[in-house]
Amino acid sequence: MRRPPEASGLIAHLLNHLFPSRCPVCDSATDTVRCAPLCRSCWSSIKRYAGPSCSRCGVPFASRDAHTCSACILHPPPFSKTLSYGLYEASLAEAINAFKFKGVRRLHRPLGDLLLSLDPGGADALVPVPLSLEGLRLRGFNQSLLLAHRVSRKRGIALVMDGLVKVRDTHPQIGLSARERAANLKGAFRAERDFSGKRVALVDDVMTTGATAAACSRQLLKAGAADVVVLTLARAGNP
Ligand SMILES: [Zn+2]
Ligand SMILES: [Zn+2]
Repeated sequence: MRRPPEASGLIAHLLNHLFPSRCPVCDSATDTVRCAPLCRSCWSSIKRYAGPSCSRCGVPFASRDAHTCSACILHPPPFSKTLSYGLYEASLAEAINAFKFKGVRRLHRPLGDLLLSLDPGGADALVPVPLSLEGLRLRGFNQSLLLAHRVSRKRGIALVMDGLVKVRDTHPQIGLSARERAANLKGAFRAERDFSGKRVALVDDVMTTGATAAACSRQLLKAGAADVVVLTLARAGNP
């Protein structure tokens, strides 16, 4: 049931009194509980990316004439398709950062709901990109698992929460070349289940170069998966 606006306004006011928060995008006082700390207006500015992108890795293009990027033509990734809700910028990037780095765990609900508009094409298992034990200890939760859980519950696709494990810690990928990223992730992930014949949707929050998605997909295919599609909230610009 929808609350009357006065009631939700009162709750937002009380919450702000108890836990004062400002919208990280526009710096106004947060006026909603659902997507706080983002305000309602900034949340509603999150739009699905409708421009051209690579059919395989989802990297956004400037032109509508191309279908597959040169990187995917030269070195086809192990996953067959990437579905991202939006671009990693503006309100969507701020929402993901609040969720992931500032520990606003409840944002997995509205963010997870964005993933529901993407069609994973008959996937029969959802597998989140795992964190290492150390990463999990530092963050306290796996953001990809929370998102995958939301999609699983709403779409009725089985969640295989421990389908992949991250067996060792890796250095942050920022600033590394494509070759260095691949080397950094070598042997970092392991499939813990038999995925024979399964069509897997691999869930992550952001895809940047696709190196993590590729490393995870390789392990899923090795464990028998028939196909892997990647499902992410946001696609960061050029690899
Ligand atoms: Zn705002
Ligand atoms: Zn591509």
